[in-house]
Amino acid sequence: LQTSNPIKAMNDEIFVYVSSKQKEIEELKKMEQFRREFLADVSHELKTPVFSAQGFVHTLLEGAMEDEAVREKFLIKAAKNLDRLDVLVNDLVSLSQLESGETTMHLEKVNLVDLTREIFERLEKVAQDRSVSLKIKPDKLESALVIADKQRIDQVMVNLISNAIKYNNEGGKVVVSIEEEKKSFSISVKDNGPGISQEHLARIFERFYRVDKSRSRDSGGTGLGLAIVKHILNAHGTSITVMSQVGKGTVFSFKLAK
Ligand code: ADP
Repeated sequence: LQTSNPIKAMNDEIFVYVSSKQKEIEELKKMEQFRREFLADVSHELKTPVFSAQGFVHTLLEGAMEDEAVREKFLIKAAKNLDRLDVLVNDLVSLSQLESGETTMHLEKVNLVDLTREIFERLEKVAQDRSVSLKIKPDKLESALVIADKQRIDQVMVNLISNAIKYNNEGGKVVVSIEEEKKSFSISVKDNGPGISQEHLARIFERFYRVDKSRSRDSGGTGLGLAIVKHILNAHGTSITVMSQVGKGTVFSFKLAK
C-alpha cells in the first residue's frame, strides 16, 4: 500500500498540507480490504492442517487405536499435519515481524561460501530424493564476506535453494553463483526447472501466491517463502530480481554489501 505525500512545497520555506477526507476514507477502505483478505487467507491456510490432524486423532479415539497398523499410520499423518502447522506459524511470525518494521538486524560479517555449503548439507537429502545436483560457482571460491544478519540471510538462501530443488525437474541442477563486485557480492540461485510464466512472475512475492497450489502444498510449501525473502532483503537495503524462461529455468539474484 502506498500513500501519496500530502505535503506540498510552495517554495523552500512554505509547505502546505490540505487534508482530504475522501482520500483518507479511500486509503482506510483499501487497508481494511487488505486486512480482510489476509485474515481470510491465514484462516484458510491454518484450517487445513488443523482439521486433518483433528480428524486423525478423533478417529483414533473412536476406536481405530485398536489396530496397531492403523494406529501408527494415523499418528504419522497427525504428526505431519502438526509439523506443517508449526512451519506455517513460524513463517507467519517471521513475516509479521518483518512487516511491522520492528525487526532488529544483527549485522555481522558472514561468509556466503560457508553458509551456502552448510545449507547444501542440510538440503542434501531433499535434493537426493529428487536427484537434483547442488553446485557453487566458482567451485574453488573459499570466502565471500558480506555484512548481513546471518540468521536471516540463511533464511533467504534456504528458501531460494529449496524452491530451486522442489520446483525443479527430477535430475535437475541448482547452481549458486557468488560474484565479487566493487562494493558488494552478487548472489544468484539458478535452476533448470520448468520456469515461471510472465503472468505469475510479478506475483510470486505476494503472500500465499502459488503458481500450482497442490504442488506447493505437497512439497511442504506455505506460500510465504518468497514474501519473507523479499522483506529480509529490503531490510538489508537491497532487492531481489527474478528472471525466468518457461521450459528453461529460473534465476533469483540479489546483492549484499561487503
Ligand atoms: P511455496 O511455499 O509455495 O514454495 P514461495 O513463496 O516460496 O512459496 O513461492 C511462491 C510460488 O512461486 C511457489 O508456489 C511456486 O509456484 C513459485 N516458485 C518459487 N520458486 C520457483 C522456482 N525456482 N521455479 C518455479 N517456480 C517457483
